[in-house]
Amino acid sequence: MKNQEIKNFLAKLQELDDFAIIGHINPDGDTIGSALALAFMLESLGKKVELWNLDPVPELYHFLPGVQRFSCPQAGDWQGKNLIFVDCSEPKRCGDEILPYYRQASTLFNIDHHISNKLFADFNLVVPERAASGEIIYELVKMSGVPLSREIATCLYVTIVTDTGSFRFPNTTASTFRIAAELKEAGADTETINHQIYEEIPPETLAVLGYAFAHFQYSPQRKVCWLVLDKQTLTRLQARDEHLEGIVNYAKAQKGVEVGILLREAEPDLVKVSFRSKKAVDVNALAQIFGGGGHQRAAGCRYRGPLTEAEQKIIEQAILITEGAGA
Ligand code: AMP
Ligand code: MN
Ligand code: MN
Repeated sequence: MKNQEIKNFLAKLQELDDFAIIGHINPDGDTIGSALALAFMLESLGKKVELWNLDPVPELYHFLPGVQRFSCPQAGDWQGKNLIFVDCSEPKRCGDEILPYYRQASTLFNIDHHISNKLFADFNLVVPERAASGEIIYELVKMSGVPLSREIATCLYVTIVTDTGSFRFPNTTASTFRIAAELKEAGADTETINHQIYEEIPPETLAVLGYAFAHFQYSPQRKVCWLVLDKQTLTRLQARDEHLEGIVNYAKAQKGVEVGILLREAEPDLVKVSFRSKKAVDVNALAQIFGGGGHQRAAGCRYRGPLTEAEQKIIEQAILITEGAGA
């Protein structure tokens, strides 16, 4: 990321006022932490900022400062706002419901690290080499001269720890560690953050994990492992989307498995799919076949159609890509 690019982007933000920051649906630590840190930065620069998401913030992140400020935008809210998308490869990642409205905003900004980003805004700051969108917000904060407060450091640390799987995934760079070190020095309480995120697993998530370990399925060479969660099972386990965070990693993190996939029935004809890979397979390319996207090692898509059809089509492609035509 070139300094000049950040400078130009920041200069445009500084010129304007009355912002709304929006993150993607089924929000994760990166989209929430990035939005909050950016809001704190803009407010330190004297700007008015609202925080939007169409979905509620998962309980897991309720410890973050400012998190109660997220609201769901109504039809009349968009006009005149300067709208900043964070951690979204395209507007529909914020929910199909925003599509009729988001163009009513005055200026569109896009801060993201997805390789599949559509560069849809008036001003795009997209850096796929970055492990989290929060790393890009960190650069903006540094460049802005706004002090790295404990609140900002906490929110940014959460973006990094969640999107790198606690510094395990291959998106973790030397610069990721350097930024994390600086955030800790600035007051991010890493012990509390890790406790909140990893040591308060809700019973619903444990119920899903129990189900998962008994129901994983495997390709002929066991390089693809997948789990199907139909609506009935999810209801029985009382599991909502936020309880499924991280489940797909257990499909991937098995001996010999290259690709892990989770298919969950959101509505009768809507299947949400998560893909993870170890190293050989580009799951962004796989997700894009089905209209989704993400990163090479973590991606997703939404499949319109029955669950059985989604499973058959998606797993067939995954096996073809992972094990070849002869499998
Ligand atoms: P998830 O499996 O939901 O944790 O998402 C993994 C990665 O893929 C994240 O970086 C998401 O932003 C991206 N992703 C998930 N679902 C979609 C989708 N429907 N379209 C585009 N990207 C997605
Ligand atoms: Mn995200
Ligand atoms: Mn992210």
